[in-house]
Amino acid sequence: MVGSTFPHGQSFRDHLDSVHTDRGCRITSDMIYSIDPRLKPISDKIEARQRLDMEDGLLMYDPDIPVNDLGQLANLVRERINGNDAYYNINTHLNATNVCVYRCIFCAFRSDLRSSKGYVMSDEQVLQRGQEAVKNGCTEMHIVGGLHHQKKFDWYLNLLQILHDAYPQLHLKGWTAVEINWFEFLTKLPTAEILTQLEDAGLGSMPGGGAEIFHPEVRDQICEHKADGTNWIHIHRTAHQLGIRTNCTMLYGHVEKPFHRIDHLIRLRELQDETGGFQTFIPLAFHPENTGLSHIKKPTALMDLRTIAISRLMLDNIPHIKAYWIMLGIGTAQTALSYGADDLDGTVRHELIYHDAGATTPEFLSVERIEHLIREAGRDPVERDTLYRTVQRDDTDRSVWTLGEKVASSV
Ligand code: SF4
Repeated sequence: MVGSTFPHGQSFRDHLDSVHTDRGCRITSDMIYSIDPRLKPISDKIEARQRLDMEDGLLMYDPDIPVNDLGQLANLVRERINGNDAYYNINTHLNATNVCVYRCIFCAFRSDLRSSKGYVMSDEQVLQRGQEAVKNGCTEMHIVGGLHHQKKFDWYLNLLQILHDAYPQLHLKGWTAVEINWFEFLTKLPTAEILTQLEDAGLGSMPGGGAEIFHPEVRDQICEHKADGTNWIHIHRTAHQLGIRTNCTMLYGHVEKPFHRIDHLIRLRELQDETGGFQTFIPLAFHPENTGLSHIKKPTALMDLRTIAISRLMLDNIPHIKAYWIMLGIGTAQTALSYGADDLDGTVRHELIYHDAGATTPEFLSVERIEHLIREAGRDPVERDTLYRTVQRDDTDRSVWTLGEKVASSV
């Protein structure tokens, strides 16, 4: 088509911009295929950069709405915000204990205090993990785990402190809002004081875990004891007010309904309007194996892509949408780069939580493999650090790196 002539001497793209299709949708240069006419009001809002509401969200979860059409719309927004870039980082995980006082029904990772499955890492083992991370050129350590019956707040604080003292260049992204809430229970200190002490010990930012589904109709069924949606939001709001950047998540594909998912996304969007402190949203596909919900089938790839696309369209104020390859599988995560996602997470080592729940993905991807996956998807790979600054590697020693500018995302 390139080089063809169209009426009035228009270029192909100008021509597309001016055409109205018989399916009722205006084709723009950014969106060159027609879409289901039921999506026209949503498409019009997206073109006009207007916010989508609950009704729009529910329509997009209607199984009769083609996933590919949602993908086109989400891709338009993804490219508006992040251009053709797709981000990844070099990171590792640390789950210092799996012993947990709670019994979330979807969790395959936790252990009872006296179970032979239970473990607690020593300071030495924690430091070894830090040393390995630095040797491998990691910029980030992702730290989450169980709420141990006998460990005091000082144990969690000390873990950050020893890592930060030994490896100050390693960004420590640690402790979900559920853990912060537990520390409040242990110490009776207010949220801001807990977060300040963690920051002083070396905390760089917070992950987005523990959000699951906020709505009490679901939360009461899957994790009734741990921090509720209001607490989770309060803790992230407090972190943002202190200047601590955080991520956010949603665990989907278990007992929740589309209404609960859209309600969850809207609550996150409202907090982001208030604080602007979320960096990335990570939709987490439920893995049923070895959980109390093992009778449920895990979400299909099409449901994963639908959820990624809807997340990109609903969360108009969060810069990044992550396709977490560990949970989605490599193929779906790569495809998601055309369905609204702009980030694949990282190389990852020592992931336990989702592998305990039956994830069959590898435990590690090399930088070469991640960059190949991104290029094959037609995107430009960009290594970032946890706070979305570009990372420049030394050509002769890849474990040596410096930070560049913050990546340009327009939300
Ligand atoms: S999800 Fe977290 S809080 Fe819940 S049981 Fe598992 S480790 Fe404990």
